[in-house]
Amino acid sequence: MLGNRMKIAPNKVVVLHYAVSDSEGTLIDSSYDHSPLSIIHGSGYLIPGLESALVDHEVGDKFEVAVAADNAYGERHDGFVQTVPKAMFESIEDLDVGTQLRATTDEGEQTVIVIDVTDDEITVDGNHPLAGIDLQFDVEILEIRDATEEELAHGHVHSEGGCGHQH
Ligand code: ZN
Repeated sequence: MLGNRMKIAPNKVVVLHYAVSDSEGTLIDSSYDHSPLSIIHGSGYLIPGLESALVDHEVGDKFEVAVAADNAYGERHDGFVQTVPKAMFESIEDLDVGTQLRATTDEGEQTVIVIDVTDDEITVDGNHPLAGIDLQFDVEILEIRDATEEELAHGHVHSEGGCGHQH
């Protein structure tokens, strides 16, 4: 309705398409390759720089958002790279570069990626794969609606069939 268009704000369900590239224009991920993303605005699902850039946009808006690394997945921390004895992981088969492991650290459970393997040591990197990377988003807003009470209680969007999650 003219003059009464819904704008994106906290607790609105937003359905959007996005394509994200690094600062050199290399495509990292695109929802156009699969299905649009449905999020509850303000739930913290999106990186902070993107979430704040959505505010006040309307259905049909297409726009670009540049998000610096510290407002995306954070800066890289050299301290998150550790070399440890391979024996610590002897129960894991197929340990190779690129293998993802769950590790218990001072920060709690964390996903780390194996970046080097030698005869008796492995090196793992606990940085997010996109840490330290400035991101460029192309965003298209497809739908905006109020979140239901149930969606707000669960913290995620329900499709027409209701909640597909276990609670
Ligand atoms: Zn649910």
